[in-house]
Parts: sequence; structure tokens; C-alpha cells
Amino acid sequence: MKKHYDVIVIGAGPAGYVAAIRCAQLGLDTACVDAWINPAGEPALGGTCLNVGCIPSKVLLESSERYTQVQHEFADHGIDVKGVTLDLDRMQDRKRRVVQDLTQGIEQLFKANKVSWVRGRGQLLADKHVRVTDAAGKKHELDAGHVILAPGSEPVPLKTVPLDHDSVVDSSGALAFETLPERLGIIGAGVIGLELGSVWRRLGAERVTLLEAQDEFLPFADQQVAKLAQRIFTRQGLDIQLGSRVVASTVEGGRVRIRYQNAEGEQQAEFDKLIVAVGRRPNTEGLAAEEASLLLDEWGVIHVDDQCHTNLPEVYAIGDAVRGPMLAHKGSEEGVMVAELIAGHAARINYNTVPSVIYTAPEVAWVGQTEGELRAAGIDYRSGTFPFSASGRARALGDSEGFIKLLAERETDRLLGAHMIGPQCSELIAEAVIAMQLGGSAEDLAMTVFAHPSLSESVHEAALAVHERAIHAVQKRGAHGK
Ligand code: FAD
Ligand code: AMP
Repeated sequence: MKKHYDVIVIGAGPAGYVAAIRCAQLGLDTACVDAWINPAGEPALGGTCLNVGCIPSKVLLESSERYTQVQHEFADHGIDVKGVTLDLDRMQDRKRRVVQDLTQGIEQLFKANKVSWVRGRGQLLADKHVRVTDAAGKKHELDAGHVILAPGSEPVPLKTVPLDHDSVVDSSGALAFETLPERLGIIGAGVIGLELGSVWRRLGAERVTLLEAQDEFLPFADQQVAKLAQRIFTRQGLDIQLGSRVVASTVEGGRVRIRYQNAEGEQQAEFDKLIVAVGRRPNTEGLAAEEASLLLDEWGVIHVDDQCHTNLPEVYAIGDAVRGPMLAHKGSEEGVMVAELIAGHAARINYNTVPSVIYTAPEVAWVGQTEGELRAAGIDYRSGTFPFSASGRARALGDSEGFIKLLAERETDRLLGAHMIGPQCSELIAEAVIAMQLGGSAEDLAMTVFAHPSLSESVHEAALAVHERAIHAVQKRGAHGK
């Protein structure tokens, strides 16, 4: 086997595989070392995102949303469907097929770009040497001119709630349930907890309880968006209990009993399945040998600067294992940036325009700063809001709950943030992202022509509302931020 490469990437998630492909496109002789083994026992590319993250969760969100629509929403359109049944095995098979197609697609891209896929666990040694241990425990060593570390992240375990991978599972287990849990508990009402709770509630779980230690719901989002989201999710049957810290669990006869503390004292609950979704942590244990002297913080996050340089020359780190939001697209962009830097090009990322999405129904999406952050930073701004209830297209869809809010600097009109909840916000947020990336203003969006009828018109109207001139909504003058 070949030993020396221009670039070795450790990890083939969306950060690492994108970095490897871009390096190869730029003419660099590149190897990508990855340790992922799929449930069939085979090595697979794509990391968390493709195998047990973004993709399988979106497949099940889509399937479960269709199941809900046919049961509860078609009748309103005058379409009566009787005898709807759930075939969970087929739904899970479809999910597996989509995952397989996409992970094999990366294998094809590696072949086409001549990226060498090295199967096994990589460890950074001194001097850009990498030790690879394969599944059978056999070791060999490679070295490179540059090393990119992209080991990703893993679910944070709760010591007091150990997984048994049957009744008590992490997000990966929750994507693979083979039967419908009647009473489902979820610890953590963050993005992952909400998406997984939505899937199983839509598929028919009678009770879905989310226990969240913090008192505030989605504290990182716009608070008006968070309040509406909480109301809608509660109506959909998600029992969101804030200020509830889970402190212990036991499993007996397939039933999970937990104890948790809230403002009223100690409480108990019983579930058929319990999902632990309390966040993710960098997958950096054993990533670098001591002799490599790689700098990590106390949480295992690899120390990097704005351009993903680690403390070691010609060693970069990207994706979930470094600072910033744990999002696939953020890691991929870091992968491209680092490849360009290695090839000697100038490259930077605008971290202010990385969008976040919660793929519930309605979808929640945002980019840039919130009103709270602007106020805390003493930045004077205007806000413009437009409700989907005034959008003809949203009405036609029968999906008109929610709104779009744009925030622009008062003095310059430059867009500083966009916050939305409603239909297809995962797509609509891109309009604000592009405008912000190009340094655009509310006026720029207001002067742009959008197709009618389309959901995108609501972004246009929100931009008009920044200057109190939305056409299809009554403008409240003197509202906060005006
Ligand atoms: P990972 O995808 O974690 O990949 C790292 C890879 O490196 C893995 O294959 C791992 O086996 C391998 N590896 C680690 N250490 C070594 C080593 N020493 N040697 C060899 N290989 C190693 N993000 C979004 O943007 N949108 C979403 O909709 C979304 N949904 C999600 C849903 C769920 C349920 C979960 C769990 C996550 C979701 N995420 C989503 C987050 C997203 O999956 C991560 O941000 C993304 O996967 C991070 O990419 P990465 O390349 O840094 O790491
Ligand atoms: P996220 O990091 O967005 O996936 O969200 C994880 C959530 O889990 C955070 O909001 C935490 O406050 C919450 N959390 C962490 N530990 C506990 C616990 N023991 N009980 C309840 N919620 C918790």
C-alpha cells in the first residue's frame, strides 16, 4: 500500500469527504481515513450525517409527515382516504435505501476524483504521520504534507441514564425503532429531540414527552419564533416540560422508569422507549497521540483559528470537532476552505451567514443575529415581519401558520438577521442567506421581483415591512425595533 500523500484527511463525514474531494480536484494526492461501519458490518462513507444524522432523520420526517397529511389533512382538500395503515418495515427500508444510495454515491465520487479511501481508525502521530488501525486490529503508517482532522462528534452520554440500546437509546437508535413506541420519552428538547419526537408522534406514538433541563425553549432562536413553535408543537402532541432535569433511570421488563426534578420537586415517569438527546461532543478521544502535541480544550474541542489551522503547522481541523455550530454545511464549507488554503489559494468563511434549520412542521430557520443579540450588542435595528396567513400560496398549501422576520441595521439598512417559522422555511432561508452574503439591505430584497404566488413573496413582504410598507399586511407603526 502507498505510504506518502500530499494530504491525509481523517474522517469521511460531510467535513472530511468534501475536503478530500476538493483537495483531489485541486491536484493534490489525497487519502481519506475513515472508521465508520454500517449496521450491515461494512465500511461506509458519509459519517454521522449520511448514516445516522441529517439524511435518515429527514427521510423519516418526510415519510411521517405524509402519513399525517393523508390521515388528517387530505379531507380538507375534499380527498377522502380510508383504511390508511402504517408499514414501518417498508418505511425503514426506504430510509436504508436512501442512506445506501448516498453513501455509495460518495464512494463513486472518491473513485472519480482518485481519493484513496483508507478503511480504519486514524491517529495523528508527530510530524504529520498517521497510524491506521483496521477493523482486524492490524496497524500501518502513512504520512503527508498536510493533515486535515475531521473526526466529527458523538452523542453526549448521561451518566445517570445509561443506554441499553433497546429501551434507552441515543439518536441513532431512535432512527431505527422497529415498532412504534406508545409512550416515548425524550431527554433534551433541542433540535434533534424535537425532530425525533415529531417523527414518532406523527407515526402514532400516543404520548411523547420531552424533558428539558433549561427553563427557556430554544433559547438560541428568536424568542417570538420559539414561543409560536412551542405552542404548535404542544398542539401536535409533544408534551414539552421545561425546567425538568432527569436524574436517574431504571429499565425493568422493557419499561423505562425515570426520576426527574422540576420546580415542584422530584417527579417520576414511565416510558416504553427513552431517547437521550442531550447534545453532541467532539469525537477526539485517541485522535492524536501525545507525541503529536495537538491542542484540545477541556471538552475535547480541537483548538483552531478562523481558518481552521490547529496549533501544529500544516495540520488543520474542521467540522463538529472544532468551534462553531455542529452543522453539516458548516463543516463542508470548512473542508473546501482548508483544501483551497493547502493549494495556496486565499480562502475564508463568513460564519455570520451559516443558516440553522429545525425540520419540524412547520419548519424553523434562522441566520445571523437575533433581536436579543442585537440589543445586547447595542446595535440599533429595524424589524419587518410578514405572516404566512397573508400569503396566497401558503393558503393554497393549507399551511399558513408562522411568519418571517427580517432585521436590518437602522443606519445602513444592511440585513443582520432573518428568523422564520412556517412552510418550507429550510428553503426560504436561503434568500436571506444570499442577500446577507452579498452584503445586501432590506431595500435590496424589497426591490427584487418574486414570482406570484410563491412562498418567496413573503420574504419580499417582510423586507417591505422593515420600512413599514408591506402591501399585503396591515403595518403596525411604532412596534418595537421601529
Ligand atoms: P461526522 O459526520 O460525525 O463524521 C466523522 C467521521 O469520522 C465518521 O465517519 C467517523 O467514524 C470518522 N472518524 C472519527 N474519528 C476517526 C478516526 N480517528 N479515524 C477514522 N475515522 C474517524 N446537521 C445539519 O446540518 N442538518 C441536519 O439536518 C442535521 N440533522 C442531524 C440529525 C441527527 C439525528 C444528528 C445526530 C445530527 C444531525 N446533524 C445535522 C449534524 C450533522 O450530522 C453533523 O454536523 C455532521 O455530520 C458533522 O460532520 P463531520 O464531518 O464533522 O463529522
Ligand atoms: P442540543 O444540544 O440542542 O441537542 O440540546 C440538548 C438539550 O438537552 C439541551 O437543551 C440541554 O439543556 C438538555 N439537557 C441536558 N441534560 C439534561 C438532563 N439531565 N435532563 C433534561 N435535559 C437535559
